[in-house]
Amino acid sequence: MKKVLALLLAFSLVFSLAACSSKTETSSGSDSELPKIGVTIYKFDDNFMSFVRRAIETKAQGKAELILNDSQNNQATQNEQVDMMIAKGVKALAINLVDPQAAPTIISKAKQADLPVIFFNKEPSEEAMASYDKVWYVGTTSSESGVIQGKLIADAWKEHPEWDKNGDGKIQYVLLKGEPGHPDAEARTKYSVETVVAEGIEVEQLELQTGMWDTVKGKELMDAWLSKHGDAIEFVIANNDAMALGALQSLKANGYFEGDKFMPVVGVDAIPDALEQIKDGLMVGTVLNDAKNQGGATFDLAFNVANGKDPLAGTEWKLDDKKAVRVPYIAITQDNIEVAEEAYK
Ligand code: BGC
Ligand code: CA
Repeated sequence: MKKVLALLLAFSLVFSLAACSSKTETSSGSDSELPKIGVTIYKFDDNFMSFVRRAIETKAQGKAELILNDSQNNQATQNEQVDMMIAKGVKALAINLVDPQAAPTIISKAKQADLPVIFFNKEPSEEAMASYDKVWYVGTTSSESGVIQGKLIADAWKEHPEWDKNGDGKIQYVLLKGEPGHPDAEARTKYSVETVVAEGIEVEQLELQTGMWDTVKGKELMDAWLSKHGDAIEFVIANNDAMALGALQSLKANGYFEGDKFMPVVGVDAIPDALEQIKDGLMVGTVLNDAKNQGGATFDLAFNVANGKDPLAGTEWKLDDKKAVRVPYIAITQDNIEVAEEAYK
């Protein structure tokens, strides 16, 4: 009996150890000569962030030892991971916040340890950015993605008078919003629709809800909206491609894209799965959110500051007056798919 118990204990230990180590990954070897950089991703199962993560890892090879953490969409977990990385002697932190409001918590930990911090993808407030001289940001100009998406919607709508199914001259749209409070979600929601209106097109919002950047949630919302509004919906605007892909799944299951039953859908990111849908003529277009360059810039800045250098030393990146490197967005349609493919290689 005792033996069995001991065996069971040993097993559970092995399993719990395995479970623990899956939360923190150390990559790029453990060469102690290389500077350690602590990285957190707000959650590993975010589609877009997995490409940013890969770009960071690729650039780090042979240059730095990364301590990579999956914060599992939990800010308390991320705070603990930051403490742990500081204890392990990292020379810089690269943080993709879970909660964009939590920057001050991370900054105060970094200040105490006199460590530089590069935030990326979720932009902290101006006040937080100004509160510490060793903090920088890598991301985009959030509003730009909304404006580009709005332009894309307006251009496509003007080319396709048949999309105005009820012939009232207005776009009856549904909007899949990203995480509320996320600067990208807020700006895309606002500027996409405002740009359509500025292009002289009237709009009517049938639905707007958050799908939390997630494909499954996007599908569930679209299912519900289709059963409520059916053909009254004339356009699906998604804050990102993951949700747009969920909406597409729902539309396909509801008989769209067969015969002449069509629904225009647009997203943001230009992830490879969305590009396939654009090639097949199912998605109208998307906006390239350049994962490769954002991941690359994040690593470059973190690596420089980890070595006590100027964040931009030896790079082509530029900082704006908010201490941010902003990678531009690009409109993507069938005509320029290659541009997006390059950014996700
Ligand atoms: C991307 C989303 C992603 C989010 C994560 C956004 O910039 O467009 O796809 O889920 O960042 O913070
Ligand atoms: Ca209409």
